[in-house]
Amino acid sequence: MNIVVCIKQVPDSAQIRVHPVTNTIMRQGVPTIINPYDLYSLEAALQLRDQVGGKVTVLTMGPPMAEDALRKAMGIGADKAVLLTDRFFAGSDTLATSYALSMAITKIAEDEPVDLVFCGKQTIDGDTAQVGPGIACRLGLNQLTYVSSIEALDAKAREITVQRRSEGGVQVLKTKLPCMVTMLEGSNTIRRGSMPNVLRAGREPIKTFNAAAAGIEDVTRCGLRGSPTVVKKVFAPKPRADKAKLIDTTNRPTSDIANDAVEAIFAAAPKLQTDLVGRAAQA
Ligand SMILES: Cc1cc2nc3c(=O)[nH]c(=O)nc-3n(C[C@H](O)[C@H](O)[C@H](O)COP(=O)(O)OP(=O)(O)OC[C@H]3O[C@@H](n4cnc5c(N)ncnc54)[C@H](O)[C@@H]3O)c2cc1C
Repeated sequence: MNIVVCIKQVPDSAQIRVHPVTNTIMRQGVPTIINPYDLYSLEAALQLRDQVGGKVTVLTMGPPMAEDALRKAMGIGADKAVLLTDRFFAGSDTLATSYALSMAITKIAEDEPVDLVFCGKQTIDGDTAQVGPGIACRLGLNQLTYVSSIEALDAKAREITVQRRSEGGVQVLKTKLPCMVTMLEGSNTIRRGSMPNVLRAGREPIKTFNAAAAGIEDVTRCGLRGSPTVVKKVFAPKPRADKAKLIDTTNRPTSDIANDAVEAIFAAAPKLQTDLVGRAAQA
């Protein structure tokens, strides 16, 4: 099984601040991490590899320092890593990002066909959840998004069965390989890196593609020139006026506390009570 996992190096969003005057994101001094959703994808890919054999390649598009994210992923257990980096990629929106990544995956597939592409559900900085589906469309892959667990992989029949979270519940979906999967948070338990993998990650060369090496001839499809999205405004949301209320739970049954809380909510929003009662009557 030849699996590619797309990982993105992101600023640790808990420490991001927006510049009060320019309204731009202040990245200086903010530590970077692997996008947390991508770790669930990586773990899912590693479990499949451990089950049926094959290899897992991690792929990222970013500046040269994104190599750090790739090495971390190798320390966790990825076999190979590819860094897609070029000044032509600067300023890419999701359209240009998914184009560049799909070209790199096509390049990787020249050595051996790719059976599965994994992405996270979304990133914690861009948050669009568009890149995975964008890659799938460009490569003509079936896509399984919002996957909460992988139920089965039949390598012989070349079929994968997953559980997908939807608004109304859980769907069980089966599709043929090759396909693209985006994983949800909490879908598995991410393993710790082993000492041999961490040591290997430190010394193994990372394959680097620039635009030409990824087979991109028309660089106007990349970076700012290939990005129709325009960011009109970035701003920090105003802190909410409502403060959390501490409830004294000493010597009171939990049911009484819950009843009081519900009554207080309905008193503040009477329409909510009517809506809920109406919906319950219809159900
Ligand atoms: C006009 C414009 C200019 C921009 N300029 C920059 C810029 O200069 N620098 C910058 O960092 N961002 C820039 N961005 C943000 C950029 O669009 C997003 O970072 C990028 O397209 C990914 O989108 P996302 O973060 O919403 O990913 P999502 O679609 O939410 O990501 C889903 C999944 O796709 C995969 N993925 C996403 N991005 C990558 C990646 N780079 N490598 C590997 N896998 C990936 C991951 O598996 C991820 O979990 C710009 C955006 C716009 C609109």
